[in-house]
Amino acid sequence: MADSKTKKRCSFCGRSENEVGFLITGMNGYICDSCATQAYEITQEALGEGKKSAGATKLNLKELPKPVEIKKFLDQYVIGQDDAKRFLSVSVYNHYKRLLQKDSGDDVEIEKSNIIMVGSTGTGKTLLARTIAKLLHVPFTIVDATVLTEAGYVGEDIESILTRLLQVADYNVPEAEQGIVFIDEIDKIARKGDNPSITRDVSGEGVQQGLLKLLEGSVVNVPPQGGRKHPDQKMIPVNTKNILFICGGAFDGIEKKIAQRLNTHVVGYTASQKTATVDKNNMMQYIAPQDLKSFGLIPEIIGRLPVLTYLNPLDRNVLRAILTEPKNSIIKQYIKLFEMDGIKLTFEDAVFEYIVDKAVEYKLGARGLRSIVETIMMDVMFEIPSEDKKEYKVTLDYAKMQLEKANMARLQTA
Ligand code: ADP
Repeated sequence: MADSKTKKRCSFCGRSENEVGFLITGMNGYICDSCATQAYEITQEALGEGKKSAGATKLNLKELPKPVEIKKFLDQYVIGQDDAKRFLSVSVYNHYKRLLQKDSGDDVEIEKSNIIMVGSTGTGKTLLARTIAKLLHVPFTIVDATVLTEAGYVGEDIESILTRLLQVADYNVPEAEQGIVFIDEIDKIARKGDNPSITRDVSGEGVQQGLLKLLEGSVVNVPPQGGRKHPDQKMIPVNTKNILFICGGAFDGIEKKIAQRLNTHVVGYTASQKTATVDKNNMMQYIAPQDLKSFGLIPEIIGRLPVLTYLNPLDRNVLRAILTEPKNSIIKQYIKLFEMDGIKLTFEDAVFEYIVDKAVEYKLGARGLRSIVETIMMDVMFEIPSEDKKEYKVTLDYAKMQLEKANMARLQTA
């Protein structure tokens, strides 16, 4: 009897010491582990609510970077792709303007201009998005369309796109409602029928319909933790009216659709003039909304992505520039790695030409540059930190030897 009185109990739920995991002792009472957990959750929720009502950050157009400045910033990291950079810079600037017009009170409502960027894989679409994110004054996130499926299928619901934005905005809803979302690989949700790819997404059209809702601007109930792992989570309503969507995709094979369209149009008196000016090596520059439709995007989606821009294929000169020129170019990164060991790393100029030659020869594109450099540098990086050297120069002979050795090894394992 006396035992039940003296037994320590949680002052919140009343359970005794041996009914709970453990008790935390306070001045005049105790709290058990599960009540403490619950209390933590309540606090988090209350703080979240507080943040939600905190409102969005006020923008000031005078302080925001102008399109020319945005492009200049992009130039430091991304080589070429001038058209895409201009479109992006203007769209981001207009996005700010639209956010500011809410306060102006007149009747002219600036509608948003979501963007779609089309360009082969490895031409810099994601790099552009990541770079622009560095100077944005609104929340920004990158999502991959390949993981999206219609509600009820294995994969992520469309709403999860906004979960990421909410997380970036620290669950400040008004702030998230001003954000920018980059949807990568939008071509992977192209409709089945017209899509030439064999790896098409069977639920493509359904996903597009779902996406349409977001692009159009509507209030969407967003699961704060994303996914379906937390079935009892409270949904957060988010209005997508002012969220800017930037989409990117490789649209493999779309050049054929463009060529077909150009050919069918090349009739009549302008025919000879048109055929003379078509640059067959870069069909992407002629892209038009109807090509996206032939590829399998539904017209409603295309209508909601009014700004269409393209990325150029990377030629030899661009690859050479990518190697050394961007602010954090691959070569600069290696120089820095060596610097940290107190070693001054230099390269013979011919090494750069050789690396580019190999990337072109094996059709590796910009992504391949890194793996080639990595292969050349691996042995040096292994040995040199233990040696007493202050500088190291990569010669053409050494680069060739390393790459040939690697190829030999690959051949031997094949
Ligand atoms: P995409 O999204 O178009 O498939 P990425 O942006 O991921 O291609 O590019 C892959 C990598 O190639 C980048 O991380 C970057 O190192 C390099 N790269 C591609 N295009 C460029 C470019 N125009 N300027 C600088 N680097 C580039």
